[in-house]
Amino acid sequence: MLDSNLSHWLEAEADALDRGLREADDVLPQLASAGVLGLGVDEQYGGAGGDTCAAVEAIAAVAGHSLTAAFVLWGQRTFIEYLLHTDNATLRERLLGDLLSGEVAGATGLSNAMKYLSGIEELGVRAAPTAAGWQLDGRLPWVTNLRKRGFVVAAAVELSGAAPFIAAIPDDLPGLTRSEDLQLLGLQSSNTAALQLDALQLQHDWLLAGDARQYLPRVRPGFLGLQCGMTIGLTRRCLQEVERHLAGSRSVLEAEWRELCAQLEQCAAELKHGLCAGRFQSEPASMFHLRIALAELAGQAVQLELQASGGKAYLQQYGAGFARRLRESAFVPIVTPSLVQLRGELQRQAAGADA
Ligand SMILES: Cc1cc2nc3c(=O)[nH]c(=O)nc-3n(C[C@H](O)[C@H](O)[C@H](O)COP(=O)(O)OP(=O)(O)OC[C@H]3O[C@@H](n4cnc5c(N)ncnc54)[C@H](O)[C@@H]3O)c2cc1C
Repeated sequence: MLDSNLSHWLEAEADALDRGLREADDVLPQLASAGVLGLGVDEQYGGAGGDTCAAVEAIAAVAGHSLTAAFVLWGQRTFIEYLLHTDNATLRERLLGDLLSGEVAGATGLSNAMKYLSGIEELGVRAAPTAAGWQLDGRLPWVTNLRKRGFVVAAAVELSGAAPFIAAIPDDLPGLTRSEDLQLLGLQSSNTAALQLDALQLQHDWLLAGDARQYLPRVRPGFLGLQCGMTIGLTRRCLQEVERHLAGSRSVLEAEWRELCAQLEQCAAELKHGLCAGRFQSEPASMFHLRIALAELAGQAVQLELQASGGKAYLQQYGAGFARRLRESAFVPIVTPSLVQLRGELQRQAAGADA
């Protein structure tokens, strides 16, 4: 259950957040004061305790109101997850408190790294060793939660002759330039921009992981599981909207609605069970299948909402919530790992198994 102040704020601001009419920097303080940033974080680290599934459900609950806010929460909570998995205890101690309180925004620029892990693209940031650390150059074309006042971003870095590594990069280093906000179809108040790194001097103590190829598979279940929370919440909300229309002539949709509700809750239960059992690190394919199934359910649910609402959904006067969910749902298949990437990965794994 979400704090009722947060629920009301999100419900009132969801359209403005999606269209960029509300200041993006307002989102994180709202999430922090409702206590959702520390869910699934051990109390010894200053969190609220519980397991990652509590965080998945919190992201789902936020996404039921606003996918923009849920994506900001995903970025923040996923960065926290990176810190929970780092061997650099000093960095964790330095950053975790400010991330849990929302003082600092955590941004995850690791789409590039996840694609790199699947052999899809080269890393966009390169390092040259220096006496105190590294000089970094390159670009991160998409990063969310780059708050104008204080952020730290996680990036994967290519290092010639050695394993690629994962670094945390604070926003106040010379050589780091944030672009203007990207102009998006939706999710506009999400502080999404590009980062340019030019001769940026980073010290060793900002290292999150010395070997990206070992670290990324460890954090991927959290990365992807928390991201699935967004899809679960959006889909649940569409199906709730369908239910409101089922009486009378729309009753013909009831069987499909029941089927989608059952499939959604089945997928959500499997996801949470696999996450808590730690199954997805050794069986990533089963998580990829769940991500694909959830994305397909989101697409079907938003279309069913349209059928259930009928022409009213097409009128600006009544249909703003539906129109926003339609735009929000367009994000689900393309966020990394995108459905195209996952299908390619599953195809490669199947071909490898046959060989
Ligand atoms: C609202 C939003 C927020 C995002 N936030 C993050 C984040 O916080 N962290 C993160 O790591 N990633 C983020 N991403 C990136 C996302 O996860 C995907 O990597 C991105 O959508 C590209 O996926 P793709 O499958 O199209 O990639 P690709 O298959 O690599 O690209 C497909 C085609 O689109 C082109 N293309 C892709 N991106 C751009 C671009 N920026 N400009 C011009 N052409 C482009 C490519 O050149 C290619 O032709 C975000 C994306 C969106 C839409």
